[in-house]
Amino acid sequence: MSLRRIVDLLRTGQPDESVTIQGWVRTKRELKEFAFVEVNDGSSMAGLQVVLNQDLPDYAEMVKMLNTGASIEVTGVLVPSPGKGQRIELQANTVKVYGEADPETYPLQKKRHSFEFLRTIGHLRSRTNTLGAVFRVRNACATAIHNFFQERGFLWVHTPVITASDCEGAGELFTVTTLDLKKVPLTGEKAIDFSQDFFGKPAYLTVSGQLEAEIMAMAFTNVYTFGPTFRAENSNTSRHLAEFWMVEPEMAFCDLEGNMDLAEAFLKYVFSYVLKHCPEDMEFFNQRIDNSVLATADNIINNEFARISYTEAISLLEKTDRTFEFPVSWGLDLQSEHERYLAEEHFKKPVIVTDYPAQIKAFYMRMNDDGKTVRAMDILAPKIGEIVGGSQREERLDALERRIDELGMPKEELWWYLDLRRFGTVPHAGFGLGFERLVQFMTGMTNIRDVIPFPRAPLSADF
Ligand code: ATP
Ligand code: MN
Repeated sequence: MSLRRIVDLLRTGQPDESVTIQGWVRTKRELKEFAFVEVNDGSSMAGLQVVLNQDLPDYAEMVKMLNTGASIEVTGVLVPSPGKGQRIELQANTVKVYGEADPETYPLQKKRHSFEFLRTIGHLRSRTNTLGAVFRVRNACATAIHNFFQERGFLWVHTPVITASDCEGAGELFTVTTLDLKKVPLTGEKAIDFSQDFFGKPAYLTVSGQLEAEIMAMAFTNVYTFGPTFRAENSNTSRHLAEFWMVEPEMAFCDLEGNMDLAEAFLKYVFSYVLKHCPEDMEFFNQRIDNSVLATADNIINNEFARISYTEAISLLEKTDRTFEFPVSWGLDLQSEHERYLAEEHFKKPVIVTDYPAQIKAFYMRMNDDGKTVRAMDILAPKIGEIVGGSQREERLDALERRIDELGMPKEELWWYLDLRRFGTVPHAGFGLGFERLVQFMTGMTNIRDVIPFPRAPLSADF
């Protein structure tokens, strides 16, 4: 028995080869003297057509069991397919049914189900064409990310999921506690007494691995994190999850230019890799989900990104006769209408905007000599809007302390972050990319809950 994946047979299988496949029945067609069954094993969008001749033992009973969703193993011989749509098919010699799927009750039928409905059957939805394609593309994206950084000598570092620092200020935090919620210990001032909690202080699920990545970059020069992050944002949007994955490279001896160069090369690499490794899936998205998906990918891969400062971006936006819902003035945090105007209409390609006003960016970004702007960079892409946000970090101890004081942040808790500026500090920079947003952009899927196998969102943590 030569057990093969269907994707390999479709690509390289030759007539007269004896093979065995395993998978789930997608469709069945019964004719007078034989039956066709399409079998899918998740290795590709297309399944393999299996032909069952009526002279097979127990033919009638067998065919009765081969309903959509049934799991089977087929051994047979590859033959050229006379039918349209496939090069080869499998002439079955023996068929083994592992598990039947009752057509009366199996929730996935041939018709097209809505994504909302599919979310209610998260244990089965990965067997559909669209979700199958999404998770293959997701896998290719993840592989591309690791390949890109590993080829360049970056160390993959694992930053903690549980953190006692809430200094990132990126959003609402999930508290991690073992306190008995029915009788929470209180201090004299009736505050929760976290000294009795597991860590002896409040702890949270991380919202970003950046600060820890900076620690590791100060030892390994170039590192990246790629792991889950958590935000208890009670926003039911199509772009927010409570649990999502983030990619965060951090480079020592690197300034904003180096950061932008790396981010641009990174996006081009990941898009090219996915087009190369998942061509059928990407074609499917372009045909069935969003007909601009391939053009967007092409645009990212083949154009040098434009680069302008925030101040230049504001004056471009002020000059156009376009009216925006949010009026434009220096100091404004760019809204997605502005970002899309710049990328889609003005430049018609990805644009990197740099040097944002300090007041709309995080405390750790490096202050420019003007004392007003920081070395931040956001990459805006047509159809997509912001896809990457990054910065050169403040590596000067005095400047960082001044900023922390201005913002009234707790300096004591950041002692180790400040220490990195005390001992062997270097210019360094990095960026963050929301992994699910990347998969959304790549596939054209409108809801972020459909690009992660098990989405966590307000009131939704089933499966
Ligand atoms: P947004 O304005 O969209 O809420 P943000 O400014 O909060 O994003 P950052 O704090 O810069 O985002 O986080 C880095 C990246 O993580 C974002 O660019 C985005 O791709 C992704 N991201 C942020 N929040 C979420 C979320 N709740 N679900 C999925 N991805 C997210
Ligand atoms: Mn947010």
